[in-house]
Amino acid sequence: MGETSKTRGGSFRRGQAGYEAARRAALRNALLPNRFPEMIVQANDVYDVIRAVKLARRENWRVAVRSGGHSWAGNHIRDGGMLLDVSRLDDARIDKHALRATAGPGCTGAGLAMRLLRQGLFFPAGHCRGVCLGGYLLQGGYGWHSRVLGPACMSVEGIDVVTADGELIHASADENADLYWSARGAGPGFFGVVTRFHLRLYRRPKLIGAAVQTFSIDKLEEVFRWAHGIRREVPAAVELMLLLSRDTPGVRGPGILAIAPVFADSWRAAWDAASFLTHGPLRRRASLALPFVPTGLNLLYTGVMQHYPADHRYAVDNMWTGASFDDLLPGLRRIAETLPAAPSHALWMNWVPPPSRPDMAYSMEDEIYLALYSVWKDAKDDAAFAQWPVERMREMQHLCSGCQLADENLGQRPVRFVSDEHLARLDRIRAERDPQSRFFPWMGRPNV
Ligand SMILES: Cc1cc2nc3c(=O)[nH]c(=O)nc-3n(C[C@H](O)[C@H](O)[C@H](O)COP(=O)(O)OP(=O)(O)OC[C@H]3O[C@@H](n4cnc5c(N)ncnc54)[C@H](O)[C@@H]3O)c2cc1C
Repeated sequence: MGETSKTRGGSFRRGQAGYEAARRAALRNALLPNRFPEMIVQANDVYDVIRAVKLARRENWRVAVRSGGHSWAGNHIRDGGMLLDVSRLDDARIDKHALRATAGPGCTGAGLAMRLLRQGLFFPAGHCRGVCLGGYLLQGGYGWHSRVLGPACMSVEGIDVVTADGELIHASADENADLYWSARGAGPGFFGVVTRFHLRLYRRPKLIGAAVQTFSIDKLEEVFRWAHGIRREVPAAVELMLLLSRDTPGVRGPGILAIAPVFADSWRAAWDAASFLTHGPLRRRASLALPFVPTGLNLLYTGVMQHYPADHRYAVDNMWTGASFDDLLPGLRRIAETLPAAPSHALWMNWVPPPSRPDMAYSMEDEIYLALYSVWKDAKDDAAFAQWPVERMREMQHLCSGCQLADENLGQRPVRFVSDEHLARLDRIRAERDPQSRFFPWMGRPNV
């Protein structure tokens, strides 16, 4: 059964009634790019997807796919070709005993996560409501408890995919393994339409909660130096995030929110995991300090969503970094000095990946993730807000090992998003699977 009630999908040629509303509805970001597909097709089922890809072949159109429309950059809104909206493929079936689920790409990660929790199960869904599995799983998927369970694409066991020929096939480690390899990390450059994911599930951690501290901005250096210094000691069950914003609880003016979501199986384990923060050296310097509180997942979602309101304009950019703190400090200071009004913010996420992962396209990560989000309401403020993330990231380019595809801005700032070796392999598989370049590649790599 579908988790949302969506109206039946239709098809809209450019210039036809309904086209502009469909283009607008295809993107969550209110900052809609000036790019115009020739046709928008809203598939109701997998047969519509097959028909749409075959139509694109006949018309010699390129195809861009949309599931939840949460790509900040509007990767699926391209000039010319077809925008294929698969958000209506949103059913999810859970097999509690086998610890397996299948889910359509239009299923929201948060919706799936909440259903699973009620059955004592868990999946590393993303940190925000509304993000759909389609884009989320293809790009990697940084979700709740992902430091232990890995990026969510590691829990994809198979995909059903409509290929550039308009053929529906299954891909897994045992069949069409090249597509399966690619689908775990190619993100917005994947060359097929995923119509179903086959997922591995986990037992629900018994306690889900968070510890929080906030600091005024004059403590920027000591807070970030501390976070950088302890990055490898933070238990994997904790996702330490520092959020720099002009509106921070308990602080007058700009400040830093340090939040440590914890996933544990006992109170003792949760308290121990959070103790690096709750009993850390900065606790007496905090404006506000909350011990570990078992909030449950829903409240964590509510907290995060305050920073990502709907109907706002967004500009986003990011980098992975393994740089030293002294090298990062000038860039952090500049970010703080130039930070636009809230809910705009900068995010520092403690990631520190394990030395190796399974073989999959996903291959770009580093110890620290730094992402900038400009968020504003009025088109008249575009000039003041839109360039902040990309300008700050350009200034710190020498410290950047690559980018996350979750918050990609490749059209404006092309950087490495998988290892060079994996990019070459992706290009080879693309050339075999999609020789006519039916599917749009990543923005910033237009000639693939
Ligand atoms: C408010 C917000 C919060 C976010 N939080 C997180 C987070 O916590 N963790 C995280 O990892 N990411 C997060 N993201 C980033 C998000 O995961 C990516 O933007 C993801 O691509 C969105 O998936 P989607 O299906 O909703 O978006 P879409 O815009 O529909 O998809 C993005 C791209 O993926 C490709 N694609 C999508 N569906 C398919 C398909 N079925 N077949 C083939 N290709 C497809 C297309 O190229 C498309 O352009 C967040 C984004 C937003 C806006």
